[in-house]
Amino acid sequence: MPFTANRAFRESPRMLSTAEGMYYKNVDGHKILDGCSGLWCVNAGHGNAKITEAIKKQLDQLSYAPAFQIGYGIAFDFADRLAELFPGDLNHVFFTNSGSESVDTALKIARAYHRAAGNPEKVKLIGRERAYHGVNFGGISVGGILNNRQRFGPLLPEVDHLPHTHDLNKNAFSKGQPENGAEKADRLLDLIALHGAPNIAAVIVEPMAGSTGVLIPPRGYLGRLREICSQHDILLIFDEVITAFGRLGDSCAASRFDIQPDMITTAKGLTNGAVPMGAVMISDQIHNALMTGPENMIELFHGYTYSGHPLACAAGLATLDVYAEEDLFKRAREMEPYLEQAVHGLSHHNCVIDIRNYGMVAAIELAPLAENPGVRAFSVFQKAFDAGLLVRTTGDTIALSPPLIITKQQIDFVVNTLDGILATI
Ligand code: PMP
Repeated sequence: MPFTANRAFRESPRMLSTAEGMYYKNVDGHKILDGCSGLWCVNAGHGNAKITEAIKKQLDQLSYAPAFQIGYGIAFDFADRLAELFPGDLNHVFFTNSGSESVDTALKIARAYHRAAGNPEKVKLIGRERAYHGVNFGGISVGGILNNRQRFGPLLPEVDHLPHTHDLNKNAFSKGQPENGAEKADRLLDLIALHGAPNIAAVIVEPMAGSTGVLIPPRGYLGRLREICSQHDILLIFDEVITAFGRLGDSCAASRFDIQPDMITTAKGLTNGAVPMGAVMISDQIHNALMTGPENMIELFHGYTYSGHPLACAAGLATLDVYAEEDLFKRAREMEPYLEQAVHGLSHHNCVIDIRNYGMVAAIELAPLAENPGVRAFSVFQKAFDAGLLVRTTGDTIALSPPLIITKQQIDFVVNTLDGILATI
């Protein structure tokens, strides 16, 4: 099983059977409120009838076709809708099957772009400490998590990392964005001084890091990164596998923070998790540079058997309709202050060392047990599951990212359940 303590799971398995709206049911028929949208993906809630119907209809029409040198309408329709949704000139889409594939695709496109633009020496990729960019070799190389890297090396060469932005000493219990981001982004200047801008292809960051504990970008950080990248002809990639499709109360973090990246990687909420799919949004400039050379040449020698899978496109188109019809991005924005207030109400517990929130995301960080980091939060996960609440834990942080349809009463249930469990620690 993925990212699972397999031997322990065999002893005490947690098994789900069905899901509807905000709730899973386990095999004993008990309801479990989904406090993390599955894995940050079921933004419109479970079992949405419109999405289900669209997939069924597509199954009857065309369940698979190769996308190499052949096209079918639904993939282009979906690409057009995505180009409308994402900001600025991110008008081009490359379809993948996951967040990890989106990341590796974007890193390859960054290098191919600079080559096409006449700068073949621009190959270095800059990631960040405490970054999660999926599990493929590109992603774990630019990512910044020891456990994801240490048994799988050697990793991709020509990679370096920015420091992470999290500062428990200064920013603990800050609501929304902490202060003083610009100076943290200036650390990119150190890497430019070390490697030389003519050797650097791209910087990739999660605008809000999710899987490593919900790290909210400090004010000014993303803007300053954009400024430095533009000055030095370095592409800026936002990994929005988690943050797109309403999670932060807008179509994507780039829109919410009003910063224009050159590429956005995404997945998860793209299809409401109903069919696996990822996508890379690509700027006009990158697209146009790649569209060079003889007419019959393959401009980007890259792709997957299931790129633009018809069932995923059907799920994705219906998902975008549901987001729009139910106005879920706005709903997330309107519910944000309620979630903020509720979750910060847990700050009185002695074991809690930080609480962070932004959009429909919140994190409660526990003081780790010195000899056993991660164990405390995992015990909260287990107790919450038994009490009918699914949360995600990463290290000693409990992350909340409920479907955007969550009600105030359900937020109260989440926080009251955690309140009771934290009182026992
Ligand atoms: N990038 C980010 C920012 C993610 O949060 C994730 C998944 N949590 C991924 C990439 C990888 O996505 P997947 O698991 O679909 O490969």
